[in-house]
Amino acid sequence: MPAIPSIDFHCHSHFSDGALSPQELLQLAKAREVQQLAITDHDTVRAYSPQLLAAAATAGITLVNGCEISCQWQRRGIHVVGLNLDLAAPGFALAMTLQAQARNDRAQKIRDVLQRLGLDVALPQVQALAGDGVIGRPHFAQHLVSTNQMPSMAAAFKCVLGSGKPGDIKADWPTLETAVGWITDAGGIAVIAHPMKYKMTLTKLRALLEAFVAAGGQGLEVLTGYQDAQRIDALADLAHRYDLYASAGSDFHRPGQPWAELGRVAALPDRCVPVWTLWS
Ligand code: AMP
Ligand code: MN
Ligand code: MN
Ligand code: MN
Repeated sequence: MPAIPSIDFHCHSHFSDGALSPQELLQLAKAREVQQLAITDHDTVRAYSPQLLAAAATAGITLVNGCEISCQWQRRGIHVVGLNLDLAAPGFALAMTLQAQARNDRAQKIRDVLQRLGLDVALPQVQALAGDGVIGRPHFAQHLVSTNQMPSMAAAFKCVLGSGKPGDIKADWPTLETAVGWITDAGGIAVIAHPMKYKMTLTKLRALLEAFVAAGGQGLEVLTGYQDAQRIDALADLAHRYDLYASAGSDFHRPGQPWAELGRVAALPDRCVPVWTLWS
């Protein structure tokens, strides 16, 4: 049996809502002995530069092109990770431009809705927190905390930004079918990210996977961050049932979050077909 590589196919840099630069992620991955790494920023692939490729080669790490695309299905926000993408494929740059535009449009709507709730939100300050990366809901949460309008990021999500709250605006996102099409048109593998995070019933999750497979989706994150054995087992069953390749990633955003540490990915159950067998 071939040795199982140490992999992480889901993490974030400061080009989205992560704390580290792509180079810092690479160094941390090397320290953790990760052999294959995908940096899957929300709706951007700016982490991938010629310098990063060169550094990965020096570090002996296989860099797999990736992106976590925001989309919607049945009015729910869904994240689809694209792996092994050809970033130069015709149409992919346009897809990234559309997502950047959607994020900017959404940011203005989030500002408006928070202001209607009586909160004080200035977009330039939120953009400053995102640096030169894309604005996400975590930057709004951070802004509300730093201006003493919310006691914590968790409270900001719980009260106004989290799932089903007024600041959870999904209307700007493309459909699931569009997002999967962007990925497959760029020669990549579309993977449903963190399936348990949507808090769907099993029936709903199956319906999502049926729509996803019909659109050309091929993968499921069976391992994401910390999950108990029961959930891993349930996801391995779903991957098997829908003939999906199994992916695995930490969803690392920043150091100090033990439930999502870079490179800390459990072994896949035996009955899973690892997604990386498609390219290695
Ligand atoms: P966005 O991509 O702008 O829709 O923001 C979604 C991101 O917010 C996720 O990728 C997480 O990193 C972060 N997030 C979601 N829920 C929470 C929460 N309850 N507390 C802190 N961060 C969260
Ligand atoms: Mn995030
Ligand atoms: Mn996600
Ligand atoms: Mn993520």
